[in-house]
Amino acid sequence: MDFLIATHNMKKRDELQRILSPLGVHVLTADEAGVDLTDVEETGTTFEENALLKARSGCKEGKMSCIADDSGLCVDALDGAPGVYSARFAGEHGNDDKNNEKLLSLLSDVPPEKRTARFVSTVACVFPDGRELVVRGECEGKIGYEKRGENGFGYDPLFYVGERTFAEFTPEEKDAVSHRGNALRALTEALPAYLNKGE
Ligand code: IMP
Repeated sequence: MDFLIATHNMKKRDELQRILSPLGVHVLTADEAGVDLTDVEETGTTFEENALLKARSGCKEGKMSCIADDSGLCVDALDGAPGVYSARFAGEHGNDDKNNEKLLSLLSDVPPEKRTARFVSTVACVFPDGRELVVRGECEGKIGYEKRGENGFGYDPLFYVGERTFAEFTPEEKDAVSHRGNALRALTEALPAYLNKGE
């Protein structure tokens, strides 16, 4: 079964394809599917809402099943911020350095035991017959005092799981415990029931 993926990010496309291949799912970007996807404004107040907004729009425009994700970092000492604003925390979309600087400065007076946080990832699938599936994965950690490590992206250099930041994990180590890994594992469990019905 073909799925349109509502992202231009080829890394996400490849990751999804790798994980969903055993289920007989083939993932296509908008370009690959020949669909002209409008960029959806992420107006939701939760990760689930934003993932669904993107998947619903993709399904409608592409006239095929669509999969979309939304993710971010929730810091307890900041009442869950940056949350759905993670990518644009410092104003400019996707500026990881500025986002990390802002996070460090907001937490400058927060002691180690109060620097708890979690990454959250949601994945939504919307089918042309109207059915919808949303899964969620989380990963608990703590925010450090300075950046460490060279791998990954986003807030990885500040996010500690155990003694190391995600930027010090190999990709395989990160997949094994990460929010995205957990969401995709939940997806592979839930999706087969949807693939066998209604299409
Ligand atoms: P998006 O869901 O891909 O738009 O990601 C939203 C934002 O959350 C990213 O721009 C990053 O700032 C942050 N984020 C999501 N997942 C991760 C991760 O695995 N590591 C570091 N930052 C992440």
